[in-house]
Amino acid sequence: MQKKADAPQDPAMRREYFQKFGASAINDAHFISIYIDEQLASECGMISPTQLLSSPPYNTLGYTIQQYTSTAQYTPELGITDATKQPVLTLNRPAFYGFWGNVFNSVMDNKPAETYQLLIQFIEHVQANNEAVYKAWMQEDQNTKQPKAGLSSFVFTTLTDSQAKLLLKPIEVAELQGSIRKFLCGRGCCADLQDLNSEYRFPVNPRGFVESVATRVGQDIVDPSYGFKSPLQGIIDRETIALTKPKPKPVIVEKPKEAKKEKPKEGDAEKKPKKPKKAPLDPALYPAGPAPEKLIIKTLQLSAQPVTETQPVCTFCQAPLRFNIQPCKIPTNYKQFITQTSKTLQLPLQPAQVTLISAQHNNYQTNKSQPVAKTLPSQKFVLLELGYNTAFKKVHEENLKTVMQMKGNGFLVRIAKPSDEARTFTFDGIDSYKTNMQLDASFSLDNYCYCVEADSIRQGVIDLMEMFKDRYLWIAEWDDLKKRNDKYFPKKK
Ligand SMILES: [Zn+2]
Repeated sequence: MQKKADAPQDPAMRREYFQKFGASAINDAHFISIYIDEQLASECGMISPTQLLSSPPYNTLGYTIQQYTSTAQYTPELGITDATKQPVLTLNRPAFYGFWGNVFNSVMDNKPAETYQLLIQFIEHVQANNEAVYKAWMQEDQNTKQPKAGLSSFVFTTLTDSQAKLLLKPIEVAELQGSIRKFLCGRGCCADLQDLNSEYRFPVNPRGFVESVATRVGQDIVDPSYGFKSPLQGIIDRETIALTKPKPKPVIVEKPKEAKKEKPKEGDAEKKPKKPKKAPLDPALYPAGPAPEKLIIKTLQLSAQPVTETQPVCTFCQAPLRFNIQPCKIPTNYKQFITQTSKTLQLPLQPAQVTLISAQHNNYQTNKSQPVAKTLPSQKFVLLELGYNTAFKKVHEENLKTVMQMKGNGFLVRIAKPSDEARTFTFDGIDSYKTNMQLDASFSLDNYCYCVEADSIRQGVIDLMEMFKDRYLWIAEWDDLKKRNDKYFPKKK
C-alpha cells in the first residue's frame, strides 16, 4: 500500500489521490461503519448547542454545557449547595427550556440532509459485498458449522437531531449524545423516553426563555397537583386530587327545588378537611324563569382538554422533563459490532470466497511483484469519518484503535476541512496499544488512513460518491503502480 508520506504536494492532486484510495476502500469493503460529526447540523442550518452557548443571552447566564446536559436529578427542595454543579433544569427552568427549545425548534423545522441518500448507496454496496461473500461460504462448505451472518453496517453520530435514525432505518444507528427529540423524567421516576407532539415548538421569548405558563384548563402552575414530594407520593397526590375534582358526567338540569337537596349540610364541612365537592353547575346560577319542560343533558369535558404547558412535565409524576442529551459516549453495541467484525475478518476464507473477492478488485492477483501471501484477498472493513472535530477527540482516537483492531484489513476514510490535525493519525499511547493488539512494529496507521479534504461534509461526500461511481474509468490505471506513480509523482525534470 502506498505510504501517506508519498502523497502529492499539490492540493487538488492530493485530494484526488486520497479520494481514489477512499472510493476503493468502500468498493472493496464487506463491513462499514460511518461516523457523522455534529458539524453536519450547522451545515444544514440547524442550531448547534456549542454556538448557542456562546451567543446572547446564554453567554451572559454563565452556565456550562455540562450543566445543560447534566443527568443529575431535578432537586429544588435540597437547595443549591454548589451552584456551579447544579443542572440548569434545577437552577433555571426558563433558561433550560429556552436553550434546548431553540435547538429543538431548529431541528423540527429542518429538512433532512440529502447527504443521507448518498450514505445509503455506500452502505448498500458494502452490504451486497458482504452478502455475496457469505453466500459463497455457504455454497463451499455445507458440513461445518455455519457462521452467523451478523451485522455488516453501523452508523454512529454526535448529532442529536435523530435524522440518521429516521432516514437510515433499518441500519443500526447509535446516537453518542442522545436525541433532542426524546425526553426523560427530570426526577428519574422511570427510564421511559417520552415524546412531544411533532407539531410542537417551544415558545422561546425574546429574552431566550420559555416561561412557565400553564394553560391547562382548570389548573394553574401553582395548583397543588404541580407541587411534588416523591415519585410515588406524586402519583398518590395526583390521584387524590383527581378524586376530589368534578368528573366528566352528564349535567342534568333540574328544577331548582330538587337541586337544593344536593347542597352540602353544615356538618359536612367540619368533618372533611378538604373542600366540599362542587356541583358541576351551581343551581344558584340558573337563569330565573320557568323551568324547561324537557331535560337538557350536557357533558363537561375537563379531562379531555389539551395539555399545553410550555414547560413539559413527566407523564407519570409531573416533574419537569429534561431533554435526553448526555455527555458523548460510545455505546456497548457499537463496540460489540467492531469486535465481532474484527473476528470475522480473521477467519480463513473458502476457495469460492477467494475467487469472489479477487474478482471484486482486479489488483489482488495481477501484481506479481508482491509476495504471494500479501496478495491473498481477505474481507475488508471501512470506517467513513464524516467531519473532524477536536471537541470529540476521544471518538477519533477510538476510530484509530478500531482500524488497528482490524489488523491490516480495515481502513479509515476521513472527510474533513483542511487542517494539520485532520491529516494526523496518531494518539497518546499508540505504541503500547500496538503491542496489545500484537501488531508488527512496522504497522503504521498512515498506510490505512486517508484524509479527503473538503470544505464541508456535504461536499466531501458528493466528491467521494462521484469518484466511486466513476471507478471503472480509473481503476485499471490506478492498480498499475507504474502508471499511478507517473501520474501523481511525476519526475522533476
Ligand atoms: Zn416522572
